Amino acid sequence: MTDAPVILWYRQDLRITDHPALLAADASGKPVIPCYILDDDSPGHWQLGGASRWWLHHSLEALNQELTDLGSGLVIRQGESHAELERLIEETGADQVFCSRGYEPWASQLEQSLHSALAARNVELKRYPGSLLFEPEQVLTGGGLPYKVFTPYWKACLKQPTPAPPKAPPAGVSAVNGISSLTLQDLALLPTKPDWASHWPELWQPGSAGAEKLLTRFFSSGLQDYSEGRNHPAKDTTSRLSPHLHFGEISPRTLWHAAKSQLEQKPEMAEQVDKFLSELGWREFSHHLLVHFPHVPESAFRPAFDAFPWLGNMEHLRAWQQGRTGYPIVDAGMRELWHTGYMHNRVRMITASFLTKHLLLPWRLGEDWFWHTLLDADLANNACGWQWVAGSGADASPYFRIFNPTLQGQKFDADGDYVRQWVPELAKLPNKWLHQPELAPADVLKDAEITLGDDYPLPIVDHKAAREAALSAYAAIKGSA
Ligand code: FAD
Repeated sequence: MTDAPVILWYRQDLRITDHPALLAADASGKPVIPCYILDDDSPGHWQLGGASRWWLHHSLEALNQELTDLGSGLVIRQGESHAELERLIEETGADQVFCSRGYEPWASQLEQSLHSALAARNVELKRYPGSLLFEPEQVLTGGGLPYKVFTPYWKACLKQPTPAPPKAPPAGVSAVNGISSLTLQDLALLPTKPDWASHWPELWQPGSAGAEKLLTRFFSSGLQDYSEGRNHPAKDTTSRLSPHLHFGEISPRTLWHAAKSQLEQKPEMAEQVDKFLSELGWREFSHHLLVHFPHVPESAFRPAFDAFPWLGNMEHLRAWQQGRTGYPIVDAGMRELWHTGYMHNRVRMITASFLTKHLLLPWRLGEDWFWHTLLDADLANNACGWQWVAGSGADASPYFRIFNPTLQGQKFDADGDYVRQWVPELAKLPNKWLHQPELAPADVLKDAEITLGDDYPLPIVDHKAAREAALSAYAAIKGSA
């Protein structure tokens, strides 16, 4: 064994607990250099969006503190990962690089090219799992093929060996001093003018400690009503852990075992726990699809949809982005997204359906907008979510099932709390008209102090006409879809 240090290359695994690559680096017995490289080159189109950058800044800050407490603070670099790692190896004489596996197509290509380039200079790239419960190659059909339908996929996952219990962080790591590092400020991840995220520290606590707090809160108040409550955006019943999971601040194994231990204490929660685990299952399934069908972020899973006769009304796109479509539940969702960096899952489905079916705009435009505005923007989950709604995905909702946004609002926001929070100009409307202000009688609108077309837009498309247009557009590709 040489005295050379090893590099722990942090990616979407910004934690110290239950971190197989960190444990392996520590077990090497050598000094460890934890390093994060902000790489805007390798991901191509999929470089981090604005909301994700805000999260990343705070997450790296939290990770640096945790690593400093362990004995070895974070080295920060910026540039193309391959070149930056080679530079760091040159500077430090490191002879091994430890990392967690990445699942994005660009990340796997990077790992492959690094593997051979580093081997040529006698440096070993050692890659570990840890971001998923089941590796995408581990769960295959009887014929050895990837799954394309969720239910049999998840059943097969549940027959796999139980995910290992989470592991504690190492007691301490020995540092290498004197390595140059950028500061977090050098990365300029935070918005400046205007600072649209100035209120986000009140809403979110990026980092592992924030994830632990949300998990505790979820188990004490959300989980007991999760199965049904998760459909109602005004209810605070979901975990909101998605950005923490995306950045790897908490491992899915930690969630799996924490949920199972809730079940042991409260067996009556079986349905809720199963539902929560199956939502984690959708995350697994999306990554399974991304690895086996790497084109899903860019083109339709079902190729016939690539010929779909989308329209291109950019005014409509802007109205959707700004939450000014005249459909209150859609507008509430889009404004929640802009204001908080998050949107409730039910409303993600409604807004995505509205874009692709009522406005006939391509799902990729919605995928891009979400990519830039979501704090949990995740290549696998976002692409699969959009394709599922658009009807072009694996195991997708059938295209002809077109959500009626008014009925969705009336069903899932019956008391109107969600719409009143995010579309305050409608707050004084009685529930009967809240989800269809355009049908409200003139005196009701007057009492609610609303002038339609002025305070709040009239619907930018008529539901019935839009539905018919969507079905005829679908008819154009139906034979081959
Ligand atoms: P919970 O209900 O508490 O679920 C726990 C965890 O399970 C989530 O944190 C998430 O990691 C996972 N999960 C839950 N639902 C899904 C799902 N349908 N697909 C995949 N994983 C799921 N999720 C993202 O993490 N990033 C995205 O970029 C993203 N884009 C989406 C786009 C569209 C159009 C749609 C319909 C869904 C998208 N989702 C995405 C999935 C889902 O909406 C979010 O994961 C969920 O709303 C996060 O809230 P939560 O943490 O409170 O979820």
